[in-house]
Amino acid sequence: MINIKSIPKSLKNKRVSVIGMGISGIGAAKLLKHYKADVFVSDLGNSIDILENSNHLSDLKIPFETGKHSGKVFDCELMVVSPGIGKETSVLRKAQKLNIPVIGEIELGSWFTEAPIIAVTGSNGKTTTSKLLASMCQNNNFDGVLAGNIGISFSEKILQDIINLNSKRVFILEISSFQTEYFVHFKPYISIFLNITPDHLNRHGTFDNYLNAKIKLAENQDRESFGIFNDDDNHINVSIQKLDFKKIPFSLDPERTFYFGLNDTKIIKKNHDELISLANISLIGNHNYSNIIAAATAAHLLGVNDTHIAESIQKFKPIPHRMEEFHTKDGVQYINDSKATNIDSVKCALNSFNKPIILILGGKYKGGNFEDLLPHTKNIKAIIAYGEAQEIIVNAFRDAVRLEAISNLKQAVILTQSIAQPGEVVLLSPGCASFDQFKNFEERGNCFKKWILKET
Ligand code: ADP
Repeated sequence: MINIKSIPKSLKNKRVSVIGMGISGIGAAKLLKHYKADVFVSDLGNSIDILENSNHLSDLKIPFETGKHSGKVFDCELMVVSPGIGKETSVLRKAQKLNIPVIGEIELGSWFTEAPIIAVTGSNGKTTTSKLLASMCQNNNFDGVLAGNIGISFSEKILQDIINLNSKRVFILEISSFQTEYFVHFKPYISIFLNITPDHLNRHGTFDNYLNAKIKLAENQDRESFGIFNDDDNHINVSIQKLDFKKIPFSLDPERTFYFGLNDTKIIKKNHDELISLANISLIGNHNYSNIIAAATAAHLLGVNDTHIAESIQKFKPIPHRMEEFHTKDGVQYINDSKATNIDSVKCALNSFNKPIILILGGKYKGGNFEDLLPHTKNIKAIIAYGEAQEIIVNAFRDAVRLEAISNLKQAVILTQSIAQPGEVVLLSPGCASFDQFKNFEERGNCFKKWILKET
């Protein structure tokens, strides 16, 4: 077995199994092959995507199997797993029994780069913050690139940099709590903790486990590195105290501005001068101002100047399916927030408007308490509950608000047309997963937009 107590000096001729043939698995296999490891890739699935990905392996003459994990998987000295695969799956339980060291793809990649890594975690806002930060880190001095949960894998990007040396590289990684499970030496230069609310408890069991999985992101950091954390989040500001990094808080309270903060009309600098006026920002809502301040703080620590930070914020457009304002007709504003799959993101969406809201909630229930939305119903004109979760939603709100229950999203869209009046908002912020009626949140959001455009 490879001893991973310290980062191995060489993987040459070492037998390494890669579990999962998605973007991360393929990236890991390519990087391992480059370092002359004896790689084998295995995936239980047989989908078209997997079969397509296997072509990359065939091209490189990397052996693989699909539709099973055969005994060959365990004939290895190191196992690299993709983020979708939990510790409780049988392949990993067996690996543990056999004392095979297991690491994640991000851990593997980090062994082969000296470039600064900025790692972003939180229950909500990771994608928005990472993308914004990546654009702030695109300038004359830095070549920031997003990797990890989104787009290209970290390992594949590192391999490209090994082939074409890039001294300006900065990695921005969006890290979910699933990925930290397999960290050993991973050490970001800057970690960002956005917020923590109950999510993914099906995988982590308890909230404490989930919190610890998030905190593990920064376990190897020391005083030479930074931890930017949301001081407005009571779980985070307590949990990060045990970490050794240089602590840089951020907050929406203008009295607690560290590098950047917020007042009624602008994002401000430490001396309360304007960084950028809110009128010049396309992102909506205080939660997004919090994301902006987190990203700006990281860019500032890296050495990006304020002018470029402000320009990047001004240019940034909301990412599809996240508080995406896609249509206004007859004075009604339509917002697609299909990515809001937990209660806290719905709460933030509701608090982003000062006008009557027709809220579409529903889909596949994934835990969480809809009653937590009760203190945020001030602007709700009506809730339309649809899909599998409708009964849970009806029971949570009872007669606190006008509520209509309906079987599917298409009917919910039709119903909005008999309720919405000029000056109001129709908001899809479902607080549930999409899988009861859609392939994923993107398909749900796209159908919502298509049906609204057809009905209006
Ligand atoms: P993630 O990558 O963590 O899922 P996204 O940027 O994709 O985050 O946003 C997911 C959902 O969470 C969207 O509905 C978005 O409006 C909402 N959201 C974004 N930032 C925050 C935040 N800081 N707090 C709460 N909700 C947020």
